[in-house]
Amino acid sequence: MSSRRQFVTQSTLLAFASALAHRTALATPDLAPGWSNWSGGQSCSNRALFYPQTEAELLSILKSSTGTLRAVGGGHSFSPLIPTRGTLISLEAMNGLISHDAHRLQATFHAGSRLAQVSSTLWNIGQGLFNEADINVQSLAGALSTATHGTGRQLQCLSAYITALKLITAEGEVLHCSRAEHPEVFQAARVSLGALGILTEVTLQNRPSYTLQEQVRVMSVTEAMRYVDQHKDDFSHIEFMAFPFGNRAMVKTLVETKAPETPVTTPWIDENTLLDFAANTVRQHPWSNPGLQHLLGMFVSDSSRVGPSWKIYPSTRAVRFNEMEYQVPATVGMQACEEVMAAMRQHRLDVFFPLEFRYVAADDAWLSPFHERDSVSISVHQYYRQDYHPIFAVIEPILRRYGGRPHWGKLNTLNGRDFQDIYPHWEDFRRIQRQVDPHGRMLNRYLRQIFA
Ligand SMILES: Cc1cc2nc3c(=O)[nH]c(=O)nc-3n(C[C@H](O)[C@H](O)[C@H](O)COP(=O)(O)OP(=O)(O)OC[C@H]3O[C@@H](n4cnc5c(N)ncnc54)[C@H](O)[C@@H]3O)c2cc1C
Repeated sequence: MSSRRQFVTQSTLLAFASALAHRTALATPDLAPGWSNWSGGQSCSNRALFYPQTEAELLSILKSSTGTLRAVGGGHSFSPLIPTRGTLISLEAMNGLISHDAHRLQATFHAGSRLAQVSSTLWNIGQGLFNEADINVQSLAGALSTATHGTGRQLQCLSAYITALKLITAEGEVLHCSRAEHPEVFQAARVSLGALGILTEVTLQNRPSYTLQEQVRVMSVTEAMRYVDQHKDDFSHIEFMAFPFGNRAMVKTLVETKAPETPVTTPWIDENTLLDFAANTVRQHPWSNPGLQHLLGMFVSDSSRVGPSWKIYPSTRAVRFNEMEYQVPATVGMQACEEVMAAMRQHRLDVFFPLEFRYVAADDAWLSPFHERDSVSISVHQYYRQDYHPIFAVIEPILRRYGGRPHWGKLNTLNGRDFQDIYPHWEDFRRIQRQVDPHGRMLNRYLRQIFA
């Protein structure tokens, strides 16, 4: 628990420190080009990487550059959204709160802000995000561009809480968008994969700040599925992580509370150290997987803690992995999950990392995977030192059969035709994309393929 707390604090400090560092480094290209994402699964030899500090600098970069442009946030997407031989633009130096409305509980941030900075800043002005993801090191623009979400039957993905945004197109046009102003661009830009232009400012609808109680319960996989199904409406947030080979699962619930913050305690063994050890052991000795997963109960015990929402939501994910995640209709979520775990066992897939099961409420953003559909999010992970293809190749067809839509930031093998079939507004998005970026400068190879 103390590591989580330290992590949040460190992330916030890092975001500030990095912003300060960039303030002294003018918008000159990085002299050693080369970029890779968090997992190391995506990389590129980009021509340049710019860190504009102001909108004027950003406009001048757009004007003077040629070829493909891609915005990069925290690099925490697994899918090939960023790689380009052209120019990368990071808004890392354009971060922080711009203004807030205490009456409407809305706040406008520079889009380069990291989520840790957003949520802790909101706490200081009496507001809170409705929900948060598993980690908080993503940039605000990056998280919104891929419909990043947490868990909760009544809670939507982050993009659903945008009330207004500022988009700067590759042509240098500045668009202020909301449901009233450029409403179609707004619907497209709420989840845009960075394909429309650069998001520079975002206004979020928030709620009054709040305190959460987290409870983690360790049980068998069958008990966890039954518990979550029975209690899904009793907690604002509920999810489970299942280790199907050892029949162990961790159910995590969050509820609002007025209780005082609990003191931070240090676990006798850090969960990331344990995970790295187990994943490495299973990589080298696959036969040890069921035993190691079953032993989980010895290292992870039931626990509870209380704290401000922004401290309770994020976990520390220090052990790298690659991930596939699909959103299936909530009505078939448990069934799909059961089938996925049965396939993992049947194919004796060589993976220690758990399956994650979460709920996300419907919204109306055109390219939101939760578009008009209450969903269950099912994700599978593979240790970064192991090939993820065998596991994803078994799981993906199952999740697709249940009508799944992939997370935009996570690995999948769908093409443009597939997306056209599963998104009712796919053609509308493409129309807006061509309208705001007629020369396709914001499209890298992957996006050109899916929009072909
Ligand atoms: C350890 C880990 C845990 C995760 N947990 C969760 C989770 O709990 N829930 C969940 O839903 N997802 C989760 N994710 C996925 C992650 O939230 C998304 O992939 C998110 O997009 C990453 O944000 P980023 O800032 O790193 O963006 P990047 O990966 O850098 O970029 C993502 C997209 O945003 C675009 N973009 C970035 N900045 C801008 C801008 N200024 N203007 C326009 N477009 C822009 C990029 O072009 C790209 O298309 C997790 C990922 C990791 C690695």
